[in-house]
Amino acid sequence: MNHKPQDAEARRKVKPVICYPNETLPIPDLNRYRAARQGAEKVDEILVPARDARTFRADAGQFFRISSVEGSQVGDLNLFHATNLNERFYSGKTRALHGTHITTGERMWSSFPYLRPMATIVEDTLNWYGMDEYGGSVHDVIGTRCDPYTGNLLSGDQYHHCCHSNLTRAMADHMQGRLQDAEPHVHDVLNVFMCTGFTRDTGQYFMKASPVRPGDYLEFFAEIDLLGALSACPGGDCSAEHSSDVAACYPLLVEVFAPTNNALDGWLSPPVNGYVGSHGRD
Ligand SMILES: [Zn+2]
Repeated sequence: MNHKPQDAEARRKVKPVICYPNETLPIPDLNRYRAARQGAEKVDEILVPARDARTFRADAGQFFRISSVEGSQVGDLNLFHATNLNERFYSGKTRALHGTHITTGERMWSSFPYLRPMATIVEDTLNWYGMDEYGGSVHDVIGTRCDPYTGNLLSGDQYHHCCHSNLTRAMADHMQGRLQDAEPHVHDVLNVFMCTGFTRDTGQYFMKASPVRPGDYLEFFAEIDLLGALSACPGGDCSAEHSSDVAACYPLLVEVFAPTNNALDGWLSPPVNGYVGSHGRD
């Protein structure tokens, strides 16, 4: 332990400032989205098997809903621009803009140089949960995704159904290509339904049994043409462990809904970020 300076307490007492005050973030028009959702028709449905992943499409202006169907189950969600896999969900910037967990009215943002809203949460049946006494909440953007490399590092295992592997196989199927080509597209996820936080004393990432129950759902408005990839995590409700076949696991349901013809009249899909991209050079 290094020597504590005389003004240590004064330095600790400095008040924090919000890194990214978000008052200037464009506010999504939830009323318009919800009005468009009325009368929208289901156009697709994908059941993601337990300990596996599937891809799905949602066009700009459509809605997609992720539901718990048979038992408490968390999901790991990747999002891409439907025709440009280089534009993908940026977990870190979403966290910087909205906080550790996201809910109704908040958005999943895309990577540089695009940095625009990809999807907006329009309904979250778990938004009653808030922040619990441990600092835990649901739908986090602080975790990464369970993966076989960390499992191997910590316990020497060779486990093949972590979310990272599930998403890799699903992307390879989508691309009709090799696993090696698909794997680099897999990125840090939105942990749908997962209940997580950081311990107050050691700052360690923790998980606890998800409060999700069959019938609960998280629903999004697709701001741009989207390809989604969703894994039903081998951790099940993440009450005990992941990266193994020990936990009880259940499928997750994805449904896609299309509004009627002119329900979104006047709405425009957001353009890519306005930064000129010269980085100070001509
Ligand atoms: Zn997982």
